[in-house]
Amino acid sequence: MLTQDEFFKSGEIVNLAEQAVYEELQAFIAKGEVEFCQCDKCLFDIVCVVLNAVPSLYSSSVVDRKYPNPDFKAEYEMLKERIKFEIPLAIAHIKEGLHH
Ligand SMILES: [Zn+2]
Repeated sequence: MLTQDEFFKSGEIVNLAEQAVYEELQAFIAKGEVEFCQCDKCLFDIVCVVLNAVPSLYSSSVVDRKYPNPDFKAEYEMLKERIKFEIPLAIAHIKEGLHH
């Protein structure tokens, strides 16, 4: 068996929620409707809060990710909607307990 580092850094195991949170956060920032600190530390915090609030969506197949079946696609879209909802909540949460 691979070492833990090799195992998880192989790139074979992907949590698509991470990708979705990144994309949705980027889109949210681009809209510029809400003012909040966008330093790395705050963005890391926001992403963690959102990832803890939504279910993960793991995949170990590059083929599935490239050519998702309708079920997987629907699940991903549902996850994205959930993330869109959670991002402003996470920002409000982080703003309250700002570290700097
Ligand atoms: Zn900050």
